Amino acid sequence: MAFLQASYSLSAELYINAKKERMKTQAIAFLAYHKGINCRRCSFRSKRISMRHNFLWKMCMKSSVSTEECRETIESTSHFSARNSPETVFDVGVIGCGPAGLALATALSERKLRVVCVDPQICKPWKNNYGVWLDQMESLNLSDCLYPVWSKTRVHIDNSRSRLLPFAYGRVDRVKMKQKLLNICKNSGVVFYEDSVENITQEQSQYSCITTSQKEKLFCRLVVDATGHSKGFVEFHTPHEPGFQVAYGIEAEVAQHPFPIDEMLLMDFRDCHMTGNMEDKSQSSMFPTFLYAMPMNSTKIFLEETSLISKPPVSFEHLKQRLLKRLDFLQIEVKSVMEEEFCLIPMGGSLPVLGQNVLGFGGSAGMVHPATGYMFSRVMEMAPFLAKKIENSIFHGENFSLTVSLWNELWSCERILQRHFFQFGGEYLSKISLNEMRDFFWAFFMLPDKEWKDFLDFRLTSSRERLLFGLHLFWRTNAALKFSLVKEAMLSGRLKLLKSVIL
Ligand SMILES: Cc1cc2nc3c(=O)[nH]c(=O)nc-3n(C[C@H](O)[C@H](O)[C@H](O)COP(=O)(O)OP(=O)(O)OC[C@H]3O[C@@H](n4cnc5c(N)ncnc54)[C@H](O)[C@@H]3O)c2cc1C
Repeated sequence: MAFLQASYSLSAELYINAKKERMKTQAIAFLAYHKGINCRRCSFRSKRISMRHNFLWKMCMKSSVSTEECRETIESTSHFSARNSPETVFDVGVIGCGPAGLALATALSERKLRVVCVDPQICKPWKNNYGVWLDQMESLNLSDCLYPVWSKTRVHIDNSRSRLLPFAYGRVDRVKMKQKLLNICKNSGVVFYEDSVENITQEQSQYSCITTSQKEKLFCRLVVDATGHSKGFVEFHTPHEPGFQVAYGIEAEVAQHPFPIDEMLLMDFRDCHMTGNMEDKSQSSMFPTFLYAMPMNSTKIFLEETSLISKPPVSFEHLKQRLLKRLDFLQIEVKSVMEEEFCLIPMGGSLPVLGQNVLGFGGSAGMVHPATGYMFSRVMEMAPFLAKKIENSIFHGENFSLTVSLWNELWSCERILQRHFFQFGGEYLSKISLNEMRDFFWAFFMLPDKEWKDFLDFRLTSSRERLLFGLHLFWRTNAALKFSLVKEAMLSGRLKLLKSVIL
């Protein structure tokens, strides 16, 4: 238990540390990403990244094509004159230009709504390394923003059980995707402010006022908080006790690696590297982690040691140590690290308070899949739907009930029931051992492909589909898992789980 953080309150600290680490390490990431330069000074085992790296990061940002394009985009829009006057009211103010905020701003602007976006990081590429299923992005006409795409996806359960999944997987090209959305916004007249929002006040009943740290005042009929998992301006029901997906990853130049370059490795639960001593063995068994790997070519690879869901969260340092042991075991010699990822995703927990004045979207609205941590494709899919509802509400609805109806659209009864079902899965997975997890995922991936994929893709929208999924999975599990599933359903799932499969 030593490696586990002692209490939930430490999760805030983890966030801050993750952010600090990210700031330090983005330098290396983007030198490699945009310029193709590897920094030899940053060996895998080095803990500190020098000031020089930070300097290089800034230089890199200044000269990066995407940044210049992006700056052009925001400068051409932020000349908007009467912004400090309540006579100039935007239809929608979007706080945060992550995937959720920009997808929504894009969809709103395509509906000719007057939109303002505020984010201190508009000109910086998104920080996270996003992986998505190709079919989802194809159905959203966004597959041109993936690079690379692996035609096959692999799951290793243990040394004797492995499955090749018949779905292609892709990595989001963060620079291309963000620029694509920014360009649509620019062409549709969205106004951008490169600043952070300090507060939001309600001005009479008709509009809200966003105040930025530079004391700009932006008046909007509707404010959307898309600030991600920082829970900026959206309140959640208390107690809000999410589980956490924690992952430590590196994008590295290696001498060689054993993974086929046309396969994305979604989960590798093999743990031969953790069998050297009793302590490693028991930790691996009690606190399962797996390898998530994206081979770019025979010498460049993204490797991430992942704790699917834990409460309290596993520490980054522990995951890093596990990854090092795994690499040693696999005889993967790291030549240089181009990027480090510190991933911390709150999953499940309570819902936002529905009806509050500020509408949430994305991480800030609890939209992450409670059992997998996925959300990217979901916000891309939901943005046009929500934009349509916003347009209807603004032009045809009563102002005082604007956010109430929109919150109810975002978290309709159907979606809440679906979330309860997924959340039961997440809670269950946070409690089981490595062997149970292996048996669970073997049963899961042996389901008909459509069923497990529907679970991962936020489908299973009707109670009938959820019931059938649950029964099929239960039927495939062994006696020990059946027993633990029933126990979890009776002790934790109870009414919410029952409702999710019958209502
Ligand atoms: C490391 C990591 C990897 C992930 N990988 C995947 C994946 O592979 N696939 C997947 O589907 N999901 C993934 N997720 C989950 C989810 O898709 C991401 O968390 C996603 O980035 C959430 O998008 P968002 O737009 O809601 O928030 P964010 O991406 O966090 O964006 C929030 C934006 O708000 C801005 N902001 C914050 N505060 C303020 C303020 N006060 N004023 C103005 N702006 C502000 C920030 O600068 C930021 O640009 C990952 C999450 C993490 C953390």
